[in-house]
Amino acid sequence: MVQENLEAVKSIINASCKRAGRPESDVTLIAVSKTKPLELVREAYEAGVRDFGENKVQDLLERIEAMPSDIRWHMIGHLQRNKVKYIVGKVAMIHSVDSLRLAEEISKESVRHQVETDILLEVNVAGEESKFGVSPEETAALAEAISILPAVHVRGLMTIAPFVENAEENRLIFRKLKQLSVDIESKSIDNVSMTVLSMGMTGDYSVAIEEGAACVRVGTGIFGEREPWH
Ligand SMILES: *Cc1c(COP(=O)(O)O)cnc(C)c1O
Repeated sequence: MVQENLEAVKSIINASCKRAGRPESDVTLIAVSKTKPLELVREAYEAGVRDFGENKVQDLLERIEAMPSDIRWHMIGHLQRNKVKYIVGKVAMIHSVDSLRLAEEISKESVRHQVETDILLEVNVAGEESKFGVSPEETAALAEAISILPAVHVRGLMTIAPFVENAEENRLIFRKLKQLSVDIESKSIDNVSMTVLSMGMTGDYSVAIEEGAACVRVGTGIFGEREPWH
């Protein structure tokens, strides 16, 4: 199941890259394994996936323990400051940084563990009240404030687009995130790069790739439906 799904997802990624005139190597598929049994995570690993996304610290830690060490783990969910110490040094990237205080904690723990941590700034492009993330207007200032912190590096932006029936409805959201990244890049802030745009989920990753996504986070499309409350 997982392997067939993966092949289908990859061929859609391939087609989207072609349409956008982008090489397929531009796009990293992050398999979002949250809430799914470990057997399915293993199946995805066996099929060649090495980038996995989780949204809860406890699950992330359990899976890091249980799975091979050549996996790049991505923290994609809301992160509380008091849990930063458990994941620093263990994850490839934290996609969900939306405050200076959280970045300060990541910096402090990275220094303490003598590691460098790559982060993305989570932007609430659509201004949905139910979502975490900074507003587009606050993003450049946040990047600038974080840039002076040791051992933490802003690599780009992340957004969770609204849930829509038709993916086209999110095209403008993705385009705005891309434009925001271009605007911030043009400020040439030391220790801030905008190379990674993490956007696009099962319902809309094809459109996200056309608009410049570097990471797509696909859960349902690979592992099947989750219980509705997750
Ligand atoms: C669950 C989740 C995803 C994957 O969602 P699907 O619609 O199942 O592909 C992507 N990003 C984040 C932040 C998530 O929490």
